[in-house]
Parts: sequence; structure tokens; C-alpha cells
Amino acid sequence: MKKDTLLSRAGRDPARHQGMVNTPVFRTSTVIFPDLESYEGRGGDDYKKVRYGLSGTPTTFAFEEAVARMEGGHAAVALPSGLAAIVVALCAYLKAGDHLLAPDSVYTPTRAFCDRHLKPNNIEVEYYDPLIGAGIEKRIRANTRAVFCEAPGSLSFEMQDIPAIAAAAHRRGIPVLADTTWGTPYFFRSFEKGVDVSIHAATKYIAGHSDVVIGVIVTNETHWLTVRRAVADYGYGVSPDDCYLALRGFRTIGVRMNQQMQNALQVARWLQSRPQVRRVLYPALEGDPGHAIWKRDFTGAASLFSFVLQPAAEARVAAFINALELFGIGSSWGGFESLAIVARIERYRTVTQWDPGGPTIRLHIGLEDPGDLIADLERGFAALEKA
Ligand SMILES: *Cc1c(COP(=O)(O)O)cnc(C)c1O
Repeated sequence: MKKDTLLSRAGRDPARHQGMVNTPVFRTSTVIFPDLESYEGRGGDDYKKVRYGLSGTPTTFAFEEAVARMEGGHAAVALPSGLAAIVVALCAYLKAGDHLLAPDSVYTPTRAFCDRHLKPNNIEVEYYDPLIGAGIEKRIRANTRAVFCEAPGSLSFEMQDIPAIAAAAHRRGIPVLADTTWGTPYFFRSFEKGVDVSIHAATKYIAGHSDVVIGVIVTNETHWLTVRRAVADYGYGVSPDDCYLALRGFRTIGVRMNQQMQNALQVARWLQSRPQVRRVLYPALEGDPGHAIWKRDFTGAASLFSFVLQPAAEARVAAFINALELFGIGSSWGGFESLAIVARIERYRTVTQWDPGGPTIRLHIGLEDPGDLIADLERGFAALEKA
């Protein structure tokens, strides 16, 4: 089955639900068993059995199954947010005395969790140059228990060579955990690239409509129980309504992402032609330093990228952003609507320098007409010049 066919088939079984096309919203806490024997045999490691509301209902399982099949993983588990998914995945592998490697470009709240919660609990967190590639081998220590990746960084868009990093980690028997939110299960086949535990902010393109916060972890077979048991131990569960919404959004991820990629490329190429723009940071563009890896490892690009302005005072950057009418100013991405923020990358780096020669603006390109978006950015540049 090709992936677009799979998108419309996976995670539903009308014959089991009176012919209904979609798996309905099942709500429950208690599940009643026919006898004591089946009640006492309810637990164990089969997490895809309905046993108690917290561990999932057919609605949860439908979402998880669709995502896992699309990505080519063994199984998936939903979490209440993308950040919760990252936190529980890290905690599943790390204990006091262990060492974690994470890229300097890592999602800022992930870094905050590492710095404020892992480090004080005697877990050593070492940030590495995201472009390290096979050089990761030299950073691996006897107590390294996980290598974390994120490709590309969601503000700076440095593309990581995940297969090279994974090969080095696997030679030492170390699992690779990756935040694959940008690639999505639709454009990035994590497990074929060496990822063991793939973590998504499904809030973004998977749900896709800026109306639900949800995470999902997909693993290969080897790592499934380590992760799934940790999710159970930490007491995480997700409302069936949120899983329903996320799966409803996921059905159209193909058309949305393909269209948004085309829109993003059009806007990005136009930006490259602007005198006020120094550089566009988008691995999908020919000439981007990460383009070759992107082309090798991904089947498409998310519509999220940054661009660097020529040196400009803060007031002019603010004038640019504030003049935009179609681009919203706000966090998150992956919805149907366009967004713009200033990416203050230099504030977070600790082992690499970030000095691209001007202020960095991050855009999320939605499903609007790209000509209208370009006209909106023209408005921004006019305001920048006037300020
Ligand atoms: C948004 C985001 C997350 C966190 O997702 P939430 O659902 O908002 O918690 C994690 N990683 C990346 C790269 C993100 O952009």
C-alpha cells in the first residue's frame, strides 16, 4: 500500500463499529470484565488491549496505529503534549549517573527540562554541535545511555546526519531518540534512518489545525516496552476526544504538507531575491548547507523555515513583524495558517556560536495563497524600511 492509501485506511475498522467510517470517541475510566480470571489477566505487556481508561480505548489505539503504520514503526503511544512525550522518553532511558548527548539546536523547552530537571538529578547532559555527524562517536562515554537528535533544528534549521549519528551510537549499543516533529511520519521514515524512538509534537502537522495539543512516541520493536512501560509508570493518558481530533487531522496530512511545502518553497525563493534578506535557512532549498542530507533522508519538507535579515535595529524588526496581516504572531506551527516570530537563537546556544549576521525570523507557511503571503511580507519590508 502506498502511503497516501495507508493514510485513508490505517487506524479504522468499520466492521467493528457498526459500519461507521471512523473509529468513534470511546470514553471510559472503568472497564468491566466478565469474570475474575479475565480481570486478573488484564494487565501484562499487551498495551493494545482495552483494560482501563488511562491506558487507552479504541479511539486512542486508532490514532496510535495510524501514526505507527505511516512511520513504519512497531507501535505508538499518545501523550498529552509533544513536550510530555520528550520528557517521558528521556526518563525511560536515564537515571542518576548517566550521560545524555543532545544537539545544541534542540527545542528550547527540551533544553529547559534537561537543564532544570535532569542535571540537578545527577544526569549529565552534554550538548553537541548539531552538525557533528559521525564525530558523535568521540563524545560517547561509558555511561552514555541515549543520543538525542532533532533534524532540522526548529529555529535554526541545521540539518543533522541522523544515519551517521545512529551508526556510531549503535556500534556502542546506545539508543537514538529523535524529535521528528519537522519530518513527520509522512515525510520521514525514522526507523529506516536509524532512529529507535521517534517523538512527535502531534500538535503540529499531525493534528494540523491548531486546535489540539498532543504528542506521540513511535518506537521500533526493541524499544517498545521500555517506552510504553515508562508512559504507564508516569501516569500519562490522553483524552479520546483529542486522539479523535488528531487522527481526523492526520487523514489529510499528505495533501496539507505537499501543498504547504510548495507554498513555502515559493515564499522562500521570493525571500532569497529580496535585498533586505541575507540568507534563507531551509534545507529544502538547493544551496542550503543541509540540502544534500535532506534530499537523501526526507521525502518532503515541512513548511517551517527561517530567514536572516540584513543587520537591522530591533525597532525595524518589530516594525516588520507588526505590519504583517496574514501572518499571526504566535507559538507552534503545522496548522493551516501562517505564523511569524523572531527566533532568538543566540540566547540558547552553549557549545556553538550563532551569529548569522542579522536578526533571524521564523515563518510557518500555511495553506493561504502564496501570492497573498508574499504581498503581506512586502508590507512588512515596507514597514521595516520606514521604521
Ligand atoms: C512544539 C514542539 C514540541 C512540543 O510540542 P507541544 O505539543 O507543544 O508540547 C516539541 N518539539 C518541537 C520541535 C516542537 O516544535
